[in-house]
Amino acid sequence: MDRLYKGIRKFQETRYKQEEAFFKELGKNQSPDVLFFTCSDSRVDPNLITQSKPGELFIVKNVGNIVPPNEPMRKKTCTAAAIEFAVIKLKVTDIVVCGHSDCGALKALWSDEKELSEMPNLKDWVSTASEVKEAVLQHNHDPSYKARIEMTEKKYIVQQLDNLKTYPLIAEAVEEEKLRLHGWYYDISTGMVYAYNPKTNYFEKIECSDRDYHGLCDDPEECEDLT
Ligand SMILES: [Zn+2]
Repeated sequence: MDRLYKGIRKFQETRYKQEEAFFKELGKNQSPDVLFFTCSDSRVDPNLITQSKPGELFIVKNVGNIVPPNEPMRKKTCTAAAIEFAVIKLKVTDIVVCGHSDCGALKALWSDEKELSEMPNLKDWVSTASEVKEAVLQHNHDPSYKARIEMTEKKYIVQQLDNLKTYPLIAEAVEEEKLRLHGWYYDISTGMVYAYNPKTNYFEKIECSDRDYHGLCDDPEECEDLT
């Protein structure tokens, strides 16, 4: 904890002082354009990977970047509240679901029952991924553990985009082209971020500046495709 206390002091004496006017203005209001779902994983920092400033992203972090579907009996309160606030009050124009490599939550899906029995809440929380697990078992032809987990992580992002559309206010806003949905995959080791292209069903590397609103390149040959 001592590092954190020192960090607070350093923030106040350096960054805050350098940008005092910005923070004073920021203290009056927030108007982020993006609702950003990502994992609680300590290595995933949305502001760092997008080089955005405080006030630009409305961030929901949870274990496994899960967006529970809008079903009456499912526990979804925090997510549903964040969606309502971001879409209705903040009028965000984009929602990003950003998964990542080496995700402990999704690795838990592949743990044995004994290990999961010690974490019943985690087991329940990631249970929406069981369909994804089945899909991976059917479609993954690479036997390595890494490939299996990576496919789970990516397929799970796509499922969260579908789950978002089960919220009527999101479905309507997307239909009216007031809101856009994006699925991203962050590879921690390489720093690369990939955007899901619904047309090709691939995650494509985000690296060039000339991109459409899905974050996808106009010249796909420039980008490496990944399933
Ligand atoms: Zn994770």
